[in-house]
Amino acid sequence: MTTGILALQGDFREHSEMLASIGQASVEVRWPEQLEGLDSLIIPGGESTTIARLILRYGFTEPLRAFCSSGRPVWGTCAGAILLAKRVDDLDRPGIETMDTSVARNAFGRQVDSFEADVAIKGLAGNPFHAIFIRAPIIESVGAGVEVLGQLEDGAIVAARQGNLLATAFHPELGGDTRLHEYFLTIGAAERPKAGAGA
Ligand code: GLN
Repeated sequence: MTTGILALQGDFREHSEMLASIGQASVEVRWPEQLEGLDSLIIPGGESTTIARLILRYGFTEPLRAFCSSGRPVWGTCAGAILLAKRVDDLDRPGIETMDTSVARNAFGRQVDSFEADVAIKGLAGNPFHAIFIRAPIIESVGAGVEVLGQLEDGAIVAARQGNLLATAFHPELGGDTRLHEYFLTIGAAERPKAGAGA
C-alpha cells in the first residue's frame, strides 16, 4: 500500500515524515503518471493559487479528478482542502473541484494568520486534536453528502468528509499527533463502493 503526496509545492515533506513514523510508505508525486499505482493521495498545504497553477501546467487536472472519483482516499489539508472544493471564494483558476464544499480562503484575517486550537474530531478516539492553522481556509458550507467532522467553538467547519474524500483546514502533519493520518489510512477499501461521490 502506497500513499502519494502531491509534491508540486507546499509541505509534502512533513506529510511523508508523518506517514513514515506510522510505517506507511509514500511517494512524492510530481507527474500525473505516478498516480496510477497509488492506493491513496494527500494534497498538502501550501499556496493554493500556486498549486492550482502547477496542476494546470503539468496536466494534473483530469488525472486528479479521475483519482477522486475512483474511490481511492484523497485528503486535502489546508490549501489541499481549497483545491478539492467545488466552490472557492477567490481562486483565480480551477482546482480539482470535486468535493461538495464551499471554502473561503484566508478566512481568519491577517491579525490571526496563524493560531492553534483543540478540535474534537468525529471518529478520533481520545483528546481533541491540537490543530495548527496557518492562513487557513474555512469550510463555509457542505452539501448533503458531506459529513462535518470538526468545528471550532464558533461553529466554523474545519474538517469534513465525503465518502473517500477528506478535507481539513489545518495542518495535521505538524505537531506530532498521528491520529488523523491513521484515520485517513482506514478510509481505504470500505469506501470504494462509494466511488464517484465527488465526481
Ligand atoms: N492561505 C493559503 C491559500 O489560500 C493556504 C494556507 C496553507 O495551506 N497553510 O492557498
